[in-house]
Amino acid sequence: MDIAAAKKAITALVAGKQGEIAAIVEELYRFPETGLQEFKSAALLADILEREGFLLERGIAGMATAFRASYGVGEPAIAILAEMDALPEIGHACGHNVIAAAAVGAAVALRHALPEDAARIVVLGTPAEELGIGKMEMIRAGCFRDLDFAMMVHPSSKRQVLKMYLGLAKIRFTFFGRIAHAAAYPEEGINALDGVIQTFNGINALRQQLRDDVRVHGIITEGGVVPNVIPERAACFFYVRADTLEEVARVKERVIACAEGAARAAGCRLTVDEDERVLAPLKINRAFSTLYSAQLAYLGLQEAAAPIDKNKGSSDIGNVSQVLPTIHPHVPIGEGVHIHSEAFARATVSERGKSAAVEGAMALALTAAELVASPGLREQIRNEFDGSG
Ligand SMILES: [Zn+2]
Ligand SMILES: [Zn+2]
Repeated sequence: MDIAAAKKAITALVAGKQGEIAAIVEELYRFPETGLQEFKSAALLADILEREGFLLERGIAGMATAFRASYGVGEPAIAILAEMDALPEIGHACGHNVIAAAAVGAAVALRHALPEDAARIVVLGTPAEELGIGKMEMIRAGCFRDLDFAMMVHPSSKRQVLKMYLGLAKIRFTFFGRIAHAAAYPEEGINALDGVIQTFNGINALRQQLRDDVRVHGIITEGGVVPNVIPERAACFFYVRADTLEEVARVKERVIACAEGAARAAGCRLTVDEDERVLAPLKINRAFSTLYSAQLAYLGLQEAAAPIDKNKGSSDIGNVSQVLPTIHPHVPIGEGVHIHSEAFARATVSERGKSAAVEGAMALALTAAELVASPGLREQIRNEFDGSG
Protein backbone atom coordinates (compact mmCIF):
# COMPACT_ATOMS: atom_id res chain seq x y z
CA MET A 1 0.00 0.00 0.00
CA ASP A 2 1.32 3.45 -0.93
CA ILE A 3 0.84 5.23 2.40
CA ALA A 4 1.70 8.69 1.05
CA ALA A 5 -0.96 8.37 -1.64
CA ALA A 6 -3.49 6.95 0.83
CA LYS A 7 -2.94 9.87 3.21
CA LYS A 8 -3.38 12.38 0.41
CA ALA A 9 -6.56 10.64 -0.64
CA ILE A 10 -7.89 10.67 2.95
CA THR A 11 -7.31 14.37 3.48
CA ALA A 12 -8.98 15.14 0.14
CA LEU A 13 -11.92 12.83 0.89
CA VAL A 14 -12.55 14.28 4.36
CA ALA A 15 -12.18 17.82 3.01
CA GLY A 16 -14.77 16.94 0.36
CA LYS A 17 -17.14 15.64 3.05
CA GLN A 18 -16.79 18.63 5.41
CA GLY A 19 -20.35 19.73 4.78
CA GLU A 20 -21.75 16.28 5.52
CA ILE A 21 -19.69 15.94 8.70
CA ALA A 22 -20.90 19.35 9.90
CA ALA A 23 -24.48 18.33 9.05
CA ILE A 24 -24.21 15.28 11.35
CA VAL A 25 -22.97 17.52 14.21
CA GLU A 26 -25.94 19.85 13.67
CA GLU A 27 -28.61 17.20 13.22
CA LEU A 28 -27.66 15.31 16.38
CA TYR A 29 -27.56 18.63 18.23
CA ARG A 30 -31.12 19.33 17.12
CA PHE A 31 -32.56 16.15 18.68
CA PRO A 32 -30.39 15.29 21.69
CA GLU A 33 -31.24 11.84 23.07
CA THR A 34 -30.14 10.49 26.43
CA GLY A 35 -28.51 7.13 27.12
CA LEU A 36 -30.22 4.07 25.55
CA GLN A 37 -32.81 6.39 23.97
CA GLU A 38 -30.59 7.38 21.03
CA PHE A 39 -32.99 5.92 18.46
CA LYS A 40 -32.96 8.74 15.91
CA SER A 41 -29.24 9.40 16.40
CA ALA A 42 -28.23 5.76 15.92
CA ALA A 43 -30.48 5.43 12.86
CA LEU A 44 -29.03 8.58 11.30
CA LEU A 45 -25.44 7.35 11.70
CA ALA A 46 -26.15 3.75 10.70
CA ASP A 47 -28.13 4.83 7.60
CA ILE A 48 -25.24 6.97 6.35
CA LEU A 49 -22.78 4.10 6.81
CA GLU A 50 -25.13 1.65 5.12
CA ARG A 51 -25.48 3.96 2.12
CA GLU A 52 -21.66 4.07 1.97
CA GLY A 53 -21.49 0.30 1.62
CA PHE A 54 -20.88 -0.76 5.21
CA LEU A 55 -22.47 -3.97 6.47
CA LEU A 56 -24.83 -2.97 9.29
CA GLU A 57 -25.81 -4.90 12.41
CA ARG A 58 -28.27 -2.90 14.46
CA GLY A 59 -29.39 -3.51 18.02
CA ILE A 60 -26.35 -5.50 19.15
CA ALA A 61 -25.24 -6.40 22.70
CA GLY A 62 -28.83 -6.27 23.91
CA MET A 63 -29.16 -2.54 23.26
CA ALA A 64 -31.51 -1.24 20.56
CA THR A 65 -29.27 1.75 19.83
CA ALA A 66 -25.91 -0.07 19.65
CA PHE A 67 -24.70 -0.92 16.16
CA ARG A 68 -21.75 -2.29 14.23
CA ALA A 69 -20.90 -1.15 10.71
CA SER A 70 -18.13 -3.12 8.97
CA TYR A 71 -16.27 -2.70 5.73
CA GLY A 72 -13.42 -4.66 4.19
CA VAL A 73 -11.58 -7.84 5.06
CA GLY A 74 -8.19 -8.78 6.43
CA GLU A 75 -5.92 -7.50 9.14
CA PRO A 76 -5.83 -5.29 11.07
CA ALA A 77 -9.38 -4.81 12.34
CA ILE A 78 -9.73 -1.21 13.49
CA ALA A 79 -12.68 0.01 15.53
CA ILE A 80 -13.76 3.64 15.40
CA LEU A 81 -16.15 4.41 18.24
CA ALA A 82 -19.17 6.67 17.87
CA GLU A 83 -20.72 7.87 21.11
CA MET A 84 -24.04 9.60 20.54
CA ASP A 85 -25.87 10.13 23.84
CA ALA A 86 -26.71 13.54 25.26
CA LEU A 87 -27.36 14.75 28.80
CA PRO A 88 -30.79 15.44 30.29
CA GLU A 89 -31.82 19.11 29.94
CA ILE A 90 -28.48 20.42 28.64
CA GLY A 91 -28.41 18.36 25.43
CA HIS A 92 -25.09 17.69 23.72
CA ALA A 93 -23.14 19.32 26.54
CA CYS A 94 -20.54 16.57 26.30
CA GLY A 95 -20.28 16.95 22.52
CA HIS A 96 -20.99 13.36 21.56
CA ASN A 97 -22.49 14.75 18.35
CA VAL A 98 -18.92 15.79 17.42
CA ILE A 99 -17.62 12.30 18.31
CA ALA A 100 -20.20 10.58 16.11
CA ALA A 101 -19.59 12.91 13.17
CA ALA A 102 -15.80 12.42 13.38
CA ALA A 103 -16.20 8.63 13.54
CA VAL A 104 -18.49 8.46 10.52
CA GLY A 105 -16.30 10.91 8.56
CA ALA A 106 -13.16 8.88 9.29
CA ALA A 107 -14.77 5.55 8.40
CA VAL A 108 -16.23 6.80 5.13
CA ALA A 109 -12.87 8.27 4.09
CA LEU A 110 -11.08 4.99 4.88
CA ARG A 111 -13.66 3.01 2.98
CA HIS A 112 -12.89 5.03 -0.16
CA ALA A 113 -9.13 5.40 0.34
CA LEU A 114 -8.12 1.83 1.22
CA PRO A 115 -8.32 -1.30 -0.93
CA GLU A 116 -11.17 -3.56 0.28
CA ASP A 117 -8.80 -6.36 1.31
CA ALA A 118 -6.38 -4.08 3.20
CA ALA A 119 -8.15 -4.01 6.57
CA ARG A 120 -11.44 -4.30 8.37
CA ILE A 121 -12.87 -0.95 9.38
CA VAL A 122 -15.56 -1.22 12.04
CA VAL A 123 -17.65 1.64 13.36
CA LEU A 124 -19.19 0.78 16.70
CA GLY A 125 -22.16 2.85 17.75
CA THR A 126 -21.66 2.89 21.52
CA PRO A 127 -24.72 4.16 23.43
CA ALA A 128 -25.11 5.53 26.94
CA GLU A 129 -21.58 6.72 27.72
CA GLU A 130 -22.98 9.16 30.26
CA LEU A 131 -24.58 6.26 32.12
CA GLY A 132 -21.37 4.21 31.90
CA ILE A 133 -23.27 1.36 30.30
CA GLY A 134 -22.78 1.07 26.54
CA LYS A 135 -19.20 -0.02 26.03
CA MET A 136 -19.24 -2.27 29.08
CA GLU A 137 -22.22 -4.18 27.72
CA MET A 138 -20.53 -4.38 24.33
CA ILE A 139 -17.33 -5.74 25.88
CA ARG A 140 -19.40 -8.33 27.73
CA ALA A 141 -21.18 -9.30 24.52
CA GLY A 142 -17.84 -9.86 22.78
CA CYS A 143 -18.06 -6.87 20.40
CA PHE A 144 -14.35 -6.11 20.89
CA ARG A 145 -13.09 -9.68 20.72
CA ASP A 146 -12.13 -9.80 17.05
CA LEU A 147 -10.73 -6.28 16.88
CA ASP A 148 -7.10 -5.11 17.08
CA PHE A 149 -7.31 -1.40 17.86
CA ALA A 150 -9.89 1.06 19.15
CA MET A 151 -9.97 4.79 18.56
CA MET A 152 -12.23 7.78 19.00
CA VAL A 153 -11.95 11.49 19.64
CA HIS A 154 -13.71 13.56 22.29
CA PRO A 155 -14.31 17.33 22.08
CA SER A 156 -12.68 19.53 24.69
CA SER A 157 -11.45 23.07 25.19
CA LYS A 158 -7.94 21.90 24.22
CA ARG A 159 -6.29 19.80 21.54
CA GLN A 160 -4.71 17.09 23.64
CA VAL A 161 -3.72 13.59 22.56
CA LEU A 162 -2.75 12.14 25.93
CA LYS A 163 -5.23 12.65 28.71
CA MET A 164 -5.75 10.39 31.69
CA TYR A 165 -9.17 9.20 32.83
CA LEU A 166 -9.91 7.85 36.30
CA GLY A 167 -11.47 4.58 37.38
CA LEU A 168 -14.87 5.05 39.01
CA ALA A 169 -17.07 3.00 41.36
CA LYS A 170 -20.59 3.99 42.37
CA ILE A 171 -22.07 3.18 45.79
CA ARG A 172 -25.52 3.84 47.22
CA PHE A 173 -26.16 3.77 50.96
CA THR A 174 -29.65 3.51 52.46
CA PHE A 175 -30.19 3.95 56.20
CA PHE A 176 -33.29 2.65 57.98
CA GLY A 177 -34.34 4.07 61.35
CA ARG A 178 -37.64 4.44 63.21
CA ILE A 179 -40.25 7.10 62.61
CA ALA A 180 -41.35 9.33 65.54
CA HIS A 181 -42.76 12.79 66.19
CA ALA A 182 -39.65 14.98 66.24
CA ALA A 183 -40.84 17.15 69.17
CA ALA A 184 -43.29 15.05 71.16
CA TYR A 185 -41.58 11.62 71.13
CA PRO A 186 -38.01 12.12 69.84
CA GLU A 187 -36.64 9.48 72.24
CA GLU A 188 -38.64 6.85 70.39
CA GLY A 189 -37.15 7.69 67.01
CA ILE A 190 -34.05 6.39 65.24
CA ASN A 191 -32.89 9.10 62.87
CA ALA A 192 -31.89 7.63 59.51
CA LEU A 193 -30.68 11.07 58.39
CA ASP A 194 -28.04 10.96 61.13
CA GLY A 195 -26.61 7.93 59.35
CA VAL A 196 -26.30 9.93 56.13
CA ILE A 197 -24.84 13.03 57.81
CA GLN A 198 -22.28 11.01 59.77
CA THR A 199 -21.30 9.21 56.55
CA PHE A 200 -20.46 12.58 54.97
CA ASN A 201 -18.57 13.63 58.12
CA GLY A 202 -16.64 10.35 58.20
CA ILE A 203 -15.68 10.68 54.53
CA ASN A 204 -14.64 14.31 55.03
CA ALA A 205 -12.29 13.17 57.81
CA LEU A 206 -11.03 10.34 55.61
CA ARG A 207 -9.96 12.82 52.90
CA GLN A 208 -6.86 13.73 54.91
CA GLN A 209 -5.61 10.17 54.40
CA LEU A 210 -6.37 9.96 50.67
CA ARG A 211 -3.97 10.50 47.80
CA ASP A 212 -4.26 13.87 46.05
CA ASP A 213 -5.73 12.43 42.89
CA VAL A 214 -8.47 10.42 44.60
CA ARG A 215 -11.98 11.86 44.28
CA VAL A 216 -14.91 11.01 46.56
CA HIS A 217 -18.09 12.97 45.94
CA GLY A 218 -21.69 12.35 46.84
CA ILE A 219 -25.21 13.67 47.16
CA ILE A 220 -28.10 13.07 49.55
CA THR A 221 -30.84 11.38 47.57
CA GLU A 222 -33.31 10.99 50.46
CA GLY A 223 -33.21 13.03 53.65
CA GLY A 224 -36.63 12.73 55.20
CA VAL A 225 -40.00 14.20 54.29
CA VAL A 226 -40.90 16.94 56.80
CA PRO A 227 -38.95 18.45 59.74
CA ASN A 228 -41.44 17.36 62.41
CA VAL A 229 -41.02 13.66 61.64
CA ILE A 230 -37.79 11.83 62.49
CA PRO A 231 -36.76 10.36 59.11
CA GLU A 232 -37.11 6.60 59.10
CA ARG A 233 -35.32 6.33 55.80
CA ALA A 234 -32.45 8.33 54.29
CA ALA A 235 -30.05 7.64 51.45
CA CYS A 236 -26.94 8.95 49.75
CA PHE A 237 -25.07 8.20 46.55
CA PHE A 238 -21.27 8.39 46.17
CA TYR A 239 -18.72 8.15 43.37
CA VAL A 240 -15.20 7.01 44.21
CA ARG A 241 -12.50 7.75 41.62
CA ALA A 242 -8.79 6.96 41.44
CA ASP A 243 -6.18 6.28 38.81
CA THR A 244 -6.00 2.51 39.36
CA LEU A 245 -8.73 -0.04 39.98
CA GLU A 246 -6.81 -1.24 43.06
CA GLU A 247 -6.94 2.24 44.56
CA VAL A 248 -10.65 2.57 43.68
CA ALA A 249 -11.31 -0.71 45.53
CA ARG A 250 -9.21 0.33 48.53
CA VAL A 251 -10.90 3.73 48.92
CA LYS A 252 -14.31 2.20 48.33
CA GLU A 253 -13.77 -0.11 51.32
CA ARG A 254 -12.86 2.90 53.49
CA VAL A 255 -15.97 4.77 52.31
CA ILE A 256 -18.17 1.78 53.09
CA ALA A 257 -16.58 1.62 56.56
CA CYS A 258 -17.58 5.28 57.08
CA ALA A 259 -21.20 4.38 56.32
CA GLU A 260 -21.07 1.30 58.56
CA GLY A 261 -19.64 3.36 61.42
CA ALA A 262 -22.31 6.01 60.85
CA ALA A 263 -25.07 3.40 60.91
CA ARG A 264 -23.73 2.00 64.17
CA ALA A 265 -23.48 5.46 65.74
CA ALA A 266 -27.02 6.37 64.68
CA GLY A 267 -28.46 2.97 65.52
CA CYS A 268 -29.69 2.47 61.97
CA ARG A 269 -29.78 -0.51 59.68
CA LEU A 270 -27.73 0.02 56.53
CA THR A 271 -27.88 -1.42 53.03
CA VAL A 272 -24.97 -0.93 50.61
CA ASP A 273 -25.57 -1.16 46.86
CA GLU A 274 -22.42 -1.28 44.82
CA ASP A 275 -22.91 -0.77 41.08
CA GLU A 276 -21.20 -3.74 39.44
CA ARG A 277 -20.33 -1.52 36.46
CA VAL A 278 -17.00 -0.09 37.56
CA LEU A 279 -15.39 2.25 35.04
CA ALA A 280 -11.75 1.38 34.45
CA PRO A 281 -9.06 4.07 34.17
CA LEU A 282 -7.78 4.79 30.67
CA LYS A 283 -4.77 2.62 29.87
CA ILE A 284 -2.46 5.01 28.06
CA ASN A 285 -0.66 3.65 24.98
CA ARG A 286 2.20 6.01 24.17
CA ALA A 287 3.16 4.42 20.84
CA PHE A 288 -0.45 4.65 19.62
CA SER A 289 -0.83 8.23 20.92
CA THR A 290 2.43 9.25 19.26
CA LEU A 291 1.11 7.90 15.97
CA TYR A 292 -1.98 10.13 16.29
CA SER A 293 0.22 13.13 17.25
CA ALA A 294 2.25 12.56 14.08
CA GLN A 295 -0.96 12.87 12.05
CA LEU A 296 -1.75 16.19 13.74
CA ALA A 297 1.73 17.37 12.73
CA TYR A 298 1.03 16.12 9.19
CA LEU A 299 -2.09 18.31 9.19
CA GLY A 300 -0.08 21.27 10.54
CA LEU A 301 -1.94 21.24 13.87
CA GLN A 302 -0.35 21.94 17.21
CA GLU A 303 -1.15 20.17 20.49
CA ALA A 304 -1.86 22.14 23.66
CA ALA A 305 0.92 21.98 26.21
CA ALA A 306 -1.50 20.92 28.96
CA PRO A 307 -0.71 18.39 31.70
CA ILE A 308 -2.27 15.01 31.05
CA ASP A 309 -3.17 14.39 34.68
CA LYS A 310 -5.25 17.47 35.51
CA ASN A 311 -9.03 17.92 35.34
CA LYS A 312 -9.70 14.23 34.87
CA GLY A 313 -13.09 12.61 34.45
CA SER A 314 -14.03 9.01 33.80
CA SER A 315 -15.45 7.18 30.80
CA ASP A 316 -16.30 3.66 29.70
CA ILE A 317 -13.60 4.06 27.04
CA GLY A 318 -11.34 3.15 29.99
CA ASN A 319 -12.83 -0.35 29.97
CA VAL A 320 -12.19 -0.66 26.23
CA SER A 321 -8.58 0.43 26.78
CA GLN A 322 -8.11 -2.52 29.14
CA VAL A 323 -8.99 -5.04 26.41
CA LEU A 324 -7.52 -3.37 23.29
CA PRO A 325 -4.88 -0.74 22.52
CA THR A 326 -6.96 2.46 22.53
CA ILE A 327 -6.62 6.18 21.92
CA HIS A 328 -9.09 8.87 23.04
CA PRO A 329 -7.58 12.23 21.95
CA HIS A 330 -9.32 15.53 22.50
CA VAL A 331 -10.29 17.83 19.64
CA PRO A 332 -10.71 21.56 20.45
CA ILE A 333 -14.12 23.22 20.11
CA GLY A 334 -13.50 26.48 21.99
CA GLU A 335 -11.09 28.04 24.44
CA GLY A 336 -12.27 28.01 28.04
CA VAL A 337 -15.55 26.13 27.49
CA HIS A 338 -15.85 23.10 29.72
CA ILE A 339 -17.81 19.91 29.24
CA HIS A 340 -21.27 19.40 30.75
CA SER A 341 -22.26 23.04 30.35
CA GLU A 342 -24.77 24.72 28.02
CA ALA A 343 -21.93 26.77 26.58
CA PHE A 344 -20.17 23.56 25.59
CA ALA A 345 -23.30 22.28 23.83
CA ARG A 346 -23.53 25.53 21.85
CA ALA A 347 -19.81 25.34 21.00
CA THR A 348 -20.31 21.98 19.28
CA VAL A 349 -22.32 23.67 16.51
CA SER A 350 -20.03 26.70 16.20
CA GLU A 351 -17.55 26.89 13.31
CA ARG A 352 -14.84 25.59 15.65
CA GLY A 353 -17.05 22.75 16.82
CA LYS A 354 -17.71 21.61 13.30
CA SER A 355 -14.06 21.96 12.28
CA ALA A 356 -13.11 19.90 15.34
CA ALA A 357 -15.26 17.07 13.97
CA VAL A 358 -13.51 17.39 10.61
CA GLU A 359 -10.11 17.41 12.35
CA GLY A 360 -11.07 14.28 14.29
CA ALA A 361 -12.24 12.53 11.12
CA MET A 362 -8.98 13.34 9.34
CA ALA A 363 -6.64 12.48 12.19
CA LEU A 364 -8.43 9.21 13.00
CA ALA A 365 -8.48 8.11 9.36
CA LEU A 366 -4.80 9.00 8.87
CA THR A 367 -3.88 7.11 12.05
CA ALA A 368 -5.83 4.08 10.85
CA ALA A 369 -4.12 4.22 7.45
CA GLU A 370 -0.70 4.23 9.13
CA LEU A 371 -1.71 1.17 11.17
CA VAL A 372 -2.85 -0.59 8.01
CA ALA A 373 0.38 0.25 6.20
CA SER A 374 2.82 -0.74 8.93
CA PRO A 375 2.89 -4.16 10.64
CA GLY A 376 5.89 -2.86 12.62
CA LEU A 377 3.86 -0.05 14.17
CA ARG A 378 1.07 -2.46 15.01
CA GLU A 379 3.53 -4.75 16.76
CA GLN A 380 5.07 -1.88 18.71
CA ILE A 381 1.65 -0.72 19.95
CA ARG A 382 0.60 -4.28 20.79
CA ASN A 383 3.86 -4.93 22.68
CA GLU A 384 3.34 -1.80 24.76
CA PHE A 385 -0.20 -2.93 25.49
CA ASP A 386 1.04 -6.38 26.55
CA GLY A 387 3.69 -4.80 28.76
CA SER A 388 6.62 -6.02 26.68
CA GLY A 389 7.12 -2.78 24.73
ZN1 LIG B 1 -19.88 13.58 29.60
ZN1 LIG C 1 -18.37 12.66 26.82
